[in-house]
Amino acid sequence: MSAAETMEREFYRTERVAEGVTRIRCPVGELCYLVEGEETAALIDAASGYAGLRELVASLTDKPVRLFLTHGHRDHSGGMVQFEEAWAHPGDTRLLDKLRDDEFRSGYPKYIKPKVYSALGPEYFPRLFDTKLHFFEDGDTFPLGGTELEVLHTPGHTRGSVCFIDTARRLIFTGDTVNRCVLLTFPEDSTDLLTYRASLERIQARSGSYDRMLASHFNGEVPAGGLAELIACCDDIASGRDGHFPAEMFRLPCHAAFEPSHIPTFRKDGGWGNIFYI
Ligand SMILES: [Zn+2]
Repeated sequence: MSAAETMEREFYRTERVAEGVTRIRCPVGELCYLVEGEETAALIDAASGYAGLRELVASLTDKPVRLFLTHGHRDHSGGMVQFEEAWAHPGDTRLLDKLRDDEFRSGYPKYIKPKVYSALGPEYFPRLFDTKLHFFEDGDTFPLGGTELEVLHTPGHTRGSVCFIDTARRLIFTGDTVNRCVLLTFPEDSTDLLTYRASLERIQARSGSYDRMLASHFNGEVPAGGLAELIACCDDIASGRDGHFPAEMFRLPCHAAFEPSHIPTFRKDGGWGNIFYI
């Protein structure tokens, strides 16, 4: 068994979500997507930086791969240090610079799943490159051959959050912008609620360009009506009509629009979308 196959069996689960699109599930549930064109491939996000991602991707495609980041959080971008180059939005420069710190970079599994982290140890979070960052802007397109990725800047969760539209396959990759548990709780990096709401409106305005939304956590699927639910949730918070439940995220006190269940990222009422805010 090759090193990549061993890594895949131990660490990663892969799933074909569309022709030429593979979802990669990482050890703490982070999701990356490999999107193949006829000439090149795009890796959307690189998770927390677990060993073997680069080898796994190389075993899935023989095309040259470019790494595109939905935002600068370490559970999405930590793995960038396994690649020579990465593309991201300049709004998250501060977050991306922090990922050069090896101790900080592996902090997500350490905090979320300390047993997983201690079972792996620091050698499973290798830094292979001093990654060169390239910055894109809203509206930029990257041809892959037969399709392209279009950047949609959607600030909210972080200032540099983006979605990517695969124009030929009619998919939109939403990162943490459209997610069942949206956090606007990062004091230096999240935007205000109305900026986030405007981003959701932009995604809705582009609904003629995609048929399916793919997110970066949980099962990766955004249900029909999920986007509208988050927009309504923003309106409830803005007008003070939401539940305003006291909560805590990453040790920071905040509020949740809907009452969280015993697993805080799920709603007690069984509904889908929730927003946590300060
Ligand atoms: Zn995030």
